[in-house]
Amino acid sequence: MFMKRGEFVKSLTLVGATAALTAGCRPKPENTGKSPAIHSGKKYRWKMVTTWPPGFPVLGESCEMLAKWVKTMSGGRMEIKVYGGGELVPPLEAFETVSNGSAQIGSGSPYYWAGKIPAAPFFATVPFGMNAQQMNTWIYCGGGYELWKEAYAPFNLVPFAGGNSGVQMGGWYNKELNTLQDFKGLKIRMPGIGGKVIEKIGGSAILVAGGELYTSLERGVIDATEWIGPYHDHRMGFHKIADYYYTPGWHEPGTLLEFFVNKEKLESLPSDLQMIIETACARINQWVLLEFEAQNRIFLKKLQEEHNVDVRLFSLEILQGLRSATEEVLQDMVADDAFANTVYQAYRQFQKEINAWSNISERQYFSLLNP
Ligand code: CA
Repeated sequence: MFMKRGEFVKSLTLVGATAALTAGCRPKPENTGKSPAIHSGKKYRWKMVTTWPPGFPVLGESCEMLAKWVKTMSGGRMEIKVYGGGELVPPLEAFETVSNGSAQIGSGSPYYWAGKIPAAPFFATVPFGMNAQQMNTWIYCGGGYELWKEAYAPFNLVPFAGGNSGVQMGGWYNKELNTLQDFKGLKIRMPGIGGKVIEKIGGSAILVAGGELYTSLERGVIDATEWIGPYHDHRMGFHKIADYYYTPGWHEPGTLLEFFVNKEKLESLPSDLQMIIETACARINQWVLLEFEAQNRIFLKKLQEEHNVDVRLFSLEILQGLRSATEEVLQDMVADDAFANTVYQAYRQFQKEINAWSNISERQYFSLLNP
């Protein structure tokens, strides 16, 4: 039975409170002792710069929700004005803008900053990496957050988890893919590490902006594209121009979204407002993943039943080939950066351990349901 939206959002508060009490995770308040007194009555006006187009479903919405919750929780003492990507600064300048204090808070995904921080993609997602549940476990309770804070400290930023896409889809293709050879010469829009893996197996990863994707695929400028999952892909209309919808999204098995806050601005807040920010981010972290999951279930059905979309599973040969190419790409990525290598090793170790558990818990359970 599904809850109404209001009840659904209300229920998240309870889930969040329960999670905070669970043994194994004992978050400590980040109180430096330097914070001003709580009841100064001072009002705070912050700006949030984001990497998302204004009003972008789920991700843009989540920034507006965060602002609303912070205002309510602070009794109106704190207001955050949200700027979509390009409204105040271009999307990919959000990190720098918060780092230098021109805005106090930003929203994005760590892998956008890979050019500045080679370790950054490990805090977002890497091909054949951890899923949303495993990433959240690593970040909140497995040592990931400490490494993430260390990675952002030189930029005067404090990161907070701000959502997860869940397992993405493998993309839209106009030809059947059976072997690794079928990727040879294939032009696909796939950014980041996934794109590097595609190049390694003989395909071409083409960068195309979101707004030009549909026409690029329609006119054959590219042969294939990945985007996110059923909800966002349906809005893009790819089902009208592509024959096959492949799964799984091996390249983005659960992309973590983030908020990053200017360290001095955060520490200059009274301690209760600091905790309100931290708590609102944690609640958004949960809402984003659950909203993705809730919408994807609806739009997968729509794509399959109303638009007869042919959902295909990548063959084992393809996935194994992509996986070994990924190993090489990741090794190259961390070869020249000691900190990136430290994060990579920590990530790998945690993934190995959590997979051993997931294999005998989640995997067995789903096999039982879907024999
Ligand atoms: Ca994607």
